[in-house]
Amino acid sequence: MNDEPDPSPGALFVVATPIGNLSDLSPRARSTLAEVDTILAEDTRRTGILLAHCGISTPLRSFHDHNEDREIPRILSRIAAGEKFALVSDAGTPLISDPGYTLLRQARKSDLRVYCVPGPCALVAALSVSGLPVDRFVFAGFLPPRPSLRRRELRLFARETKTMVFYEAPHRLASALSDMGEILGEDREAAIARELTKRFESVHCATLGSLLSRVRSESIVARGEIVLVVRGALESSEQAGDDGAVTSLLSAMLAEGISVRQAAAVAARLDKGPRNALYRQALSLAKKEE
Ligand code: SAM
Repeated sequence: MNDEPDPSPGALFVVATPIGNLSDLSPRARSTLAEVDTILAEDTRRTGILLAHCGISTPLRSFHDHNEDREIPRILSRIAAGEKFALVSDAGTPLISDPGYTLLRQARKSDLRVYCVPGPCALVAALSVSGLPVDRFVFAGFLPPRPSLRRRELRLFARETKTMVFYEAPHRLASALSDMGEILGEDREAAIARELTKRFESVHCATLGSLLSRVRSESIVARGEIVLVVRGALESSEQAGDDGAVTSLLSAMLAEGISVRQAAAVAARLDKGPRNALYRQALSLAKKEE
């Protein structure tokens, strides 16, 4: 075994920072930011606030999509020469809908040492409090702002069975929910996670249709930072099986003289699906029985 110290201890540390609450900066993130030679920041002013809060005076250098082509060769050669850099974004985990991908790619190709200092990430935080299945999920980032492109992308998700996570700007929340309702189904369960870890943190869980009405009536405030979590489509076999069981349940209740409305309400209480969908299913069964 070679016990010689590594002659070039240069490295790149990818450091997650808080998504709102500064106390969420991990002790390891703090000591890494204090110990590296340079911090690469998406916005030096914003990261400067975090560093001032922590009493850290490491030099900051601006690093974003518009200067990375010029910066990357310099950064890589300085790491190769033994310097340590930390990469941070304005909030959360770098690279996740944030700059850094090309730098990482090239650092890996150049066989440089790269370490993660994990921590907050809005998509994981939102999933963890959404109440929706989290065993399998797809992160879809920001949908395209142009309605036609957004709708085209949503159509690709129409049959997705995993939970889907989207980042969304507040001024596009209503139109995104409206398109999602139309393409994925208004009865699809979803959650709007707003301002996580901040003073006005709120999480609203309901169907896409109901969330849209509440956003339109402003009982849900479309302001601040938002993650949208949407339940996946039922697996076709699961749907078939479940539909069969739900159909039998609804039919049995209707045969006992229970009204369509009450049958749907009872099935919803038994967690058989959203009330509106159950109501429609019961109604069509009742019509067939007539
Ligand atoms: N890299 C970040 C991460 O790890 O989550 C995401 C950066 S992306 C440019 C910013 C988006 O993340 C916001 O528009 C919002 O969708 C989401 N986001 C960031 N902070 C949030 C928070 N505190 N609450 C809810 N969503 C947040």
